[in-house]
Order: sequence, then structure tokens, then C-alpha cells
Amino acid sequence: MSQNTISTGGEFLVKDVDASQIFIPEEFNEEQRMILQTCYDFLEAEVIPNLDKIDNKENGIMRQLIAKAGELGLLGIAVPEAYQGFNQSFLTTMYANEAIGSSFSFAVAFMAHTGIGTLPLLYYGNEAQKQRYIPQMASGEMPAAYCLTEPNAGSDANSGTSKATLSADGKHYILNGQKMWISNGGFADLLTVFAKVDNDRVLSAFLVESAWEGVTINPEEHKMGIKGSSTVQLFFNDVKVPVENLLGKRGEGFRIALNILHIGRIKLASNSIGSAKRTINYAVNYANERKQFGKAIANFGAIQHKLAQQAILTYAAESAVYRASKNIDDAIAKYEHEGLEHGAAHIEGSAQYAVECALLKVYGSEALDFVVDEAVQIYGGMGYSADMPVDRAYRDSRINRIFEGTNEINRLLVVDTAIKDAQKGKFDLMGPAAEVMSEIDNLKPSLKGNEDYFAEKKVYIKNFKKACLMAIYSMQDSLKRQLATEQEIMMNVTDMIIQTYVTESTLLRVEKLQQLKGEQAVMLQKDLLDVLIYDAAASIAKSGQDAIYAFAEGNSDKLIKALTHFTTVKGINTKEARRRVALYMISENKFKL
Ligand SMILES: Cc1cc2nc3c(=O)[nH]c(=O)nc-3n(C[C@H](O)[C@H](O)[C@H](O)COP(=O)(O)OP(=O)(O)OC[C@H]3O[C@@H](n4cnc5c(N)ncnc54)[C@H](O)[C@@H]3O)c2cc1C
Repeated sequence: MSQNTISTGGEFLVKDVDASQIFIPEEFNEEQRMILQTCYDFLEAEVIPNLDKIDNKENGIMRQLIAKAGELGLLGIAVPEAYQGFNQSFLTTMYANEAIGSSFSFAVAFMAHTGIGTLPLLYYGNEAQKQRYIPQMASGEMPAAYCLTEPNAGSDANSGTSKATLSADGKHYILNGQKMWISNGGFADLLTVFAKVDNDRVLSAFLVESAWEGVTINPEEHKMGIKGSSTVQLFFNDVKVPVENLLGKRGEGFRIALNILHIGRIKLASNSIGSAKRTINYAVNYANERKQFGKAIANFGAIQHKLAQQAILTYAAESAVYRASKNIDDAIAKYEHEGLEHGAAHIEGSAQYAVECALLKVYGSEALDFVVDEAVQIYGGMGYSADMPVDRAYRDSRINRIFEGTNEINRLLVVDTAIKDAQKGKFDLMGPAAEVMSEIDNLKPSLKGNEDYFAEKKVYIKNFKKACLMAIYSMQDSLKRQLATEQEIMMNVTDMIIQTYVTESTLLRVEKLQQLKGEQAVMLQKDLLDVLIYDAAASIAKSGQDAIYAFAEGNSDKLIKALTHFTTVKGINTKEARRRVALYMISENKFKL
């Protein structure tokens, strides 16, 4: 495997990465930390004290909060100065999103507005369209929504039947159709609506003002969670959309929808980190307060195990999200340097890391689901009370596995996109995979025995990558064109890839942190890393076995032997490592690593 900077998504599978090449959250500068703090200050002042009112949708409170966030400049963090924004980097935007992610329904409204609501226009709009709408969106005067899903077009988004027909005088598109599950739909003023022009096979996108004649808004949906987030069906009956409000080119809508989703996915992962940290704080506080058998339940190993595991997954997600965010930021800067304008550079930069965006969406949302589930468990019976904060955290988390592409769709995308990108020549996947296949005939011990801490861990990560490459190569070799119909196998291989990326990101973060702060500063992080790698090895082995036994029936012995070789790590005392992580958080009474 060559060592170089990762210049495209999925390439981490075939390259060694040096710790100096990745960004770690400890490197956020003063200005970025101030932006994060401004977000938290806003939440603590305006959102968190009003969570019940928000969930009851009292007096249009969500729209008012969006307006207040706009006044403070929070809606314009990623918006260029030409449209009254602050033109912050992608990385900084992601950091702010982490904070906002901890605000339950408000997070959904904020993300729907600043993300899928604003970005299609910001990235694909012409100058007149942007000047007309973006400043009001950044200021919070014009809340936005993104209308893609229809009753019969969910995951298969391009199958929608909403239709736009050019009027006889050529001045308007006449829009007809129905959209459902539209976040912010109950109060948004500007809608990005996807519909097909005449008999086109692919969607186009239109900027539609909700006040226009023919737009009807259904009552709010009753939902399991994110109850304060507006979610409605919208109907379009002969709505006259001026031709100037076609967004991008005719037929470009599906591309717009997909490209915006890459960014939405990694943003959702950063949201999950903020939400997980807030939930862990609830759990640690409660574990320190609640006494049973004469002592705080935080003293029990079973509770410490849960707290540690919550922290480990959150730390790992954080390591991976900011690594990928900086990669995307660097790609955007490179494209801008080469002359692409702001929107095009962001589209290309994020599309380049589509594999990472999809895998982080899956990992982040599932880590958060684990965190909230165990928080309810730590609260015991009180966790089942609707008066406790973990009740809201539990219900609100669940949507993350469904929107921005379900986790099934994203799992399928990870391996499929990596293979297709390699086929397009973006990086060499099958060359290194073939090398691994030749290596498995003659397996040699992986460790020499004299490796230091990080060198040993790097051998494991390298082996995890080999396990992934072996699975990709042999899966393709066995299944060929049938691969697309073998979703279970593709998902197994994606799970191997996810574990590998997240574990490598955490390893590189801890190594870089040690270089920056010294060995004493990373003792707990090493405990956490030990557990993560130990668990990842078992997880990759299980996913790999499931895949191999499925595609290599009768011919699996050699592959299974190699898989075992590539996923063998030294045993460690995970119980004690987890206890040390938990005890530190218990002493700090919050998530702190
Ligand atoms: C609260 C909420 C807010 C939302 N906000 C918005 C919004 O603002 N704008 C918007 O446009 N949409 C929004 N959505 C819609 C959301 O993006 C869709 O619900 C999601 O994409 C899934 O589509 P679906 O519900 O039709 O499920 P389906 O596509 O019917 O999927 C059902 C199940 O089948 C699986 N499945 C489907 N196709 C495949 C396949 N090819 N292979 C394997 N498995 C498959 C899915 O993973 C899922 O498990 C929102 C949804 C909710 C619930």
C-alpha cells in the first residue's frame, strides 16, 4: 500500500495515512471555538428552556427561533459575504452543526433550512436567484424547505410524478403534484420542489414560494419523535412558477438532489455527535445522583460499561467526521484555487468524498441510537418517564437512520460508490486488492514483536484494510454482475469498511494528539482506542465471515483462514480499559475526553 494524502473518497482502503495528514478536533482554533460557543449560548438561552413548548408547537415558536438564529448570524455561517453571510469554511460549518445537533427538533428545523433548504439554491442558483432569496434566508426572514419525497417516491426519489409543463406563452412552468414528509413545510416561505418537465425521465428543480396560488399545506404529521419539527404534505395545483425560478438546468434536479444529500449525510453525522454528547451528560449526571444498594449507580461495573461504550463510539464518530470534513474542505479549496466558483467547488469537493459521507451517516446515526438507548437504560424506570430528557433524546434519535437516505441505501452506496469510483479510474482499488489475494496463499505473521504502541495498532488497521480488499475482490470475482442483487453481502462488506475507516481515524487522532500533547495526555484515549480496535476486529471478522460463506460456498476455507489472520489482534483487558474511561467521565460528571 502506498503512503500519500487521500485525494478521493474510498481511497483510504488502499493507502496508509500519516497522523500529520489528518485534522483532529483538538486543532480547532479560537475563532472556530467561539462560533461553537455562540451556537451553544443560543441553544441554552432560547432553545433548551423551551423544549416542551417547541414539541407542542406553541404559537409558531419554531419559526421565531429560526428568525432569532438568523439575527445572530447562525443561519449564514456557510453563506458567502455577497449574500450577507459569514463565508466560513466547510469544517467550521460542521463544527457549528455539532452544537446545533444537540437541540432536538430545533436541530432538524435548522438543518432543513441551512442545509437542504438553502444549499441547492446557493450551489446551483444563478446570480439573480441568489441575490433575490439568499440574504433573506441567511437572516431568517425566509425559512426554507426541500421537497423531494412523494407518497410513491421515497428511496427511489427519481420516480416522483410531480410534473411541470411550460405555459403557452413560455413565461411559466405550471406545477402539479404532491410532496410528503417535508421538514419545515408548515412555515417555510421558499420551497425547492423537484418535478419532471413534461415527459422527462429525470427531475428538474424549481424555486417555489409557498404563498403562491395553488400551494396547499396539509396539517402537521403526528410523529414518534422530533415533535417540534414541522413535517407536512404539500400539494401543488396548477402553481405558476416563473421560468426564472427553474433551478439549474432542465433535467438537472436529480443531480442537485443527490449532490446536496452527500453534504446532508456528513452533516447529520456531525449533528449526531452533539446529540450524543448531550445525552451522555444526562446519563453521567443521573448515574452520579441515583443511589441503589447504598451507593450511586455510577459505581456499578454494568453502568460503567455503558458509559464507556457511549463515550467510545462518540469519540470515534467525532474523529472520523472531522477527518473527512477537513478532506472535503481541502478539496473545496483546491477546486476554488483552480477557478471553480463557490457552489461548484462545494459540490465537487463533497461528491469526491461521497463514500465517507455515506458511511459516516450510518455510523453517526447508529452510534447515537446506541447512546440514547443505553441512556434510557441507565435511567431505569425513570428512563421510561416522558418527563425525563432521555425520553426525548431516545425518540428524536430514531429518525436519523431514516432520512438523508435510509441506512440501507447508504450502506449499499458505500461499497458500490467505492467500486464505481475505482472503475472510473479515480483510484486503483483492484490492483492492491489483487496483491492481497496473492498474499493470502502465503500468510506471514503480521507482527514482528518489537513494534511500539502505534506501530502495532497500524499493523492491525492495515490488516483490516486487507480484509476489506480481499472481500471486495473475491465478492466481485464470485458474483460478477449478480453483485447488485446480493445486498446482504454488499452490506456486510460496507460494515467492514465502516469499522476500518472509523477505527483508523481514531488511531490517527490519538497518535497526533500524543505528538501534540505528550504521552500522559492520551492515556484514556489509548484505552478507548484499545477497546475500539478489539471490537472492530471482531466485528470485521463476523461481517467478513457472513459475506464469504454467502458468496464462496464450498470454496471458503482459504478466505476464512486469511480473514482470521487479518482480524486477529492481541487480547486486552477491555473491562479495565472501559472502567478507566467511565471513571474519568464520572469524576468530571460529563462527557469529557
Ligand atoms: C420526519 C421526516 C422528515 C423528512 N424530511 C424530508 C424533507 O424535508 N424533504 C424530503 O424530501 N423528504 C423528507 N423525508 C423523507 C425521507 O427522506 C424518506 O422517508 C426516506 O428517504 C425513505 O423513503 P420512504 O419513507 O419512502 O421509505 P421507502 O423508500 O419506502 O423504504 C422503506 C424501507 O425499504 C428500504 N428500501 C427501499 N429501497 C431499497 C433498496 N433499493 N434496497 C434496499 N432497501 C430498500 C428502506 O431502506 C426502508 O427500510 C422525511 C421523512 C421523515 C420521516
